[in-house]
Amino acid sequence: MYCYECGEKLALVLHNQEGLVPFCKKCNEYRFPQFATAVTIVAANREKDKILLAKHRDQSDYILFAGYVKKGETAEKTVTREFKEETGLNVVKYKYMSSRYNAAKNLLLLNFSVIAERGEPQLDKSEIDEVKWFTFDEALEFVRKDSDAEAFLKAAVADLKKS
Ligand SMILES: [Zn+2]
Repeated sequence: MYCYECGEKLALVLHNQEGLVPFCKKCNEYRFPQFATAVTIVAANREKDKILLAKHRDQSDYILFAGYVKKGETAEKTVTREFKEETGLNVVKYKYMSSRYNAAKNLLLLNFSVIAERGEPQLDKSEIDEVKWFTFDEALEFVRKDSDAEAFLKAAVADLKKS
């Protein structure tokens, strides 16, 4: 581990509240581990019986809408901005669900369940190839098994069925 400001090798030093934390002797600062944050979005229709999923070129699985949280932006803002950018549709309502840490991508994923406004999706073709509405059962069938997306989708579908 190296300091992200000066490049010095970091040593683990006892921090009075956080236990052992990487420390840069040159900067005389603790350097808490950094990671990126992204939102993933389970988008339902207003009737709450269908889920909108996306597919990228040359991929067989359907995925949840997702995007990185920009510096200075709230996660709520990322949800409405990304969904609008990727589908052309506004978010009518959103609800924070849960989070998962993806170690391979060093990424904290925050999942939101949203209700999309009615209308035809207008795709951003640079990011997404196709979007499609699925019934709950179909949606669960078309996402990759044992993925973060599947876990988020299962939780969101269970929650939508209750409401
Ligand atoms: Zn440093």
